[in-house]
Amino acid sequence: MSTYDPGPLSEGAKPRPAPVPDAESAPFWAATLERTLLVQECSSCGHHQLYGRSLCVNCHAAALRWIESSGRGTIYSRTIIRQNPMRTFKHLIPFVVALIDLDDGPRVMSNVVGVPAEEVQIGDRVRVTFQPVSDDAALPLFELDR
Ligand SMILES: [Zn+2]
Repeated sequence: MSTYDPGPLSEGAKPRPAPVPDAESAPFWAATLERTLLVQECSSCGHHQLYGRSLCVNCHAAALRWIESSGRGTIYSRTIIRQNPMRTFKHLIPFVVALIDLDDGPRVMSNVVGVPAEEVQIGDRVRVTFQPVSDDAALPLFELDR
């Protein structure tokens, strides 16, 4: 899977906040450094979920393991952010926040990058890409899968 490089920060802009891995999310963030998207799979009922949790949201079993996602999905909904005064996001405007139904099951929220925001439509196919933001994590973002 690919790496997303947004280019140098414009003057006055600050980098995006980096996730801080904890015991539960550490495997997920470690995989992002290898450009791999993980989802949790319940060994009891087979349900897939993301973000990671200590229990299955379907059957409440604690028998969860991380598996590799295809990183592909379909846009369920999206909006275009046109105002954000924070120096960590202002330089990204306009940008897309989307709900994405992964082919593996979970619905996740992320950004769709690499094309003008107006081009991103509900039903579009997307694939994951990763923006490195620290030594501990790369952000899973999505690009159109054309
Ligand atoms: Zn389950």
